Amino acid sequence: SDFSTAEFADFEAEVASEELLMKPVLAVVGRPNVGKSTLVNRILGRREAVVQDTPGVTRDRVSYDANWNGREFVVVDTGGWVSDAKGLAHQIAEQAELAIGAADAVLFVVDSQVGITDEDEAVVRVLRRSKKPVVLAANKVDDQRTEAEATSMWNLGLGQPWAISAIHGRGTGDLLDAVLEALPEAPQERYSEVGGPRRVAIVGKPNVGKSSLLNKLSGQQRAVVSDMSGTTVDPVDELCEVGGQMYRLIDTAGIRKRVKEASGHEYYASLRTQGAIERAEVCVVVIDASEPLTEQDLRILSNVEDTGKALVIAFNKWDLTDEERRKYLDREIERDLVAFRWAPTVNISALTGRNVDKLSKAVEEALAGWETRISTGKLNAFLGRVAAAHPHPLRGGKQPRILFGTQAQNCPPTFVLFTSGQLDQGYERFVERRLREDFGFTGSPVHVEVRARE
Ligand code: GDP
Ligand code: GDP
Repeated sequence: SDFSTAEFADFEAEVASEELLMKPVLAVVGRPNVGKSTLVNRILGRREAVVQDTPGVTRDRVSYDANWNGREFVVVDTGGWVSDAKGLAHQIAEQAELAIGAADAVLFVVDSQVGITDEDEAVVRVLRRSKKPVVLAANKVDDQRTEAEATSMWNLGLGQPWAISAIHGRGTGDLLDAVLEALPEAPQERYSEVGGPRRVAIVGKPNVGKSSLLNKLSGQQRAVVSDMSGTTVDPVDELCEVGGQMYRLIDTAGIRKRVKEASGHEYYASLRTQGAIERAEVCVVVIDASEPLTEQDLRILSNVEDTGKALVIAFNKWDLTDEERRKYLDREIERDLVAFRWAPTVNISALTGRNVDKLSKAVEEALAGWETRISTGKLNAFLGRVAAAHPHPLRGGKQPRILFGTQAQNCPPTFVLFTSGQLDQGYERFVERRLREDFGFTGSPVHVEVRARE
């Protein structure tokens, strides 16, 4: 039952193929006053109030979580996009282009009462080039009389015009059905349907006290395990109750077997550790607090972060530390563990049992941070505040802007920012830091991905 190289290769392939899945994005475009914002409100059913303009902050990107017939997607409302009178058509086309580039499908709104204008034509050209699926909404068909106007929109060459009245809701149901057909399937929420005890991996370099901790945790509980009906456990895993909560401890067989890492076997030990991290939802990294921190400790911590798992740090052998050692440990933490400041820590002794029950609270906290979902509306309000207070520095006369963002997935929280240009590394990290300050994410890595349109 040892972890083989082939199995590890499978893991790697699985991780690599796991593309960033996210809710599909629908951009609502069209020239000013055709009724885009009214339609967006209708789509949202006003469940999420449209953000009011903040003085001094241009409302140039607003996106929201939407749901129609149980399908989830993100709506980007370009309704508030600024426009000046000069070169209006050009400007609208340019803005539409940005929104369209970030979208999976486009809802193009025209005004049936006014008919097709030059500005509409400009957007149509952008839409043709983009090759994105387009749903055409002929708005302001409030009654039978304007139906004929809507029909003339076939001339745009974008397929069937859907005659609607955003204000009265006329025809919007059929329109949304057409929108769903144009959008790719939304991904499933990760892990939510798995259920059962949470998967915990106890990892750490040799001799830090992993098997001692495991024995402490699961000592008297083997009986409880067999009583759990309907729960299948890998022969290498073990169910165990900590602090009143049932957990599935990953690869306990590997820890118990205590295959001591003779030279040459270290490679397999690290494969095994990697395998356990991959299978876990949360990792408890055990560190020997009585000894100086080592590279190997840091490598395992980074490994957990890179694999995107929730993290708890357990400083073990606390019974062996004196005041001097603890002072020194504080300095080591300050110097070497700043990058993991987000992880909850517990000072334990697997030997005496000190604080071992507190691990459960830390694990729960980390899992909560790992599963956090921020609504698209909240996220964009946040991004607006950040950009207003700290705009991206000018670069070669240009200023990349964050158009909008969305949380692509949780477990761990992963954000995608759609921007009008590549962001500086420093600015990206700044946004990441502010995300943590505003939303927490205790115990979880946070990933930010930027999709730039130059
Ligand atoms: P946007 O600039 O494209 O976002 O347009 P708005 O949603 O702000 O709407 C512009 C104007 O058109 C507003 O006065 C709306 O009340 C009006 N409007 C929007 N939808 C309809 C509709 O279906 N019928 C009519 N008669 N007016 C509408
Ligand atoms: P593993 O290789 O990480 O599984 O570490 P072990 O559980 O085998 O522990 C290595 C050694 O450290 C053993 O001699 C344990 O008795 C000892 N040890 C583990 N935890 C503690 C602790 O909290 N305090 C003290 N004093 N010794 C510990």
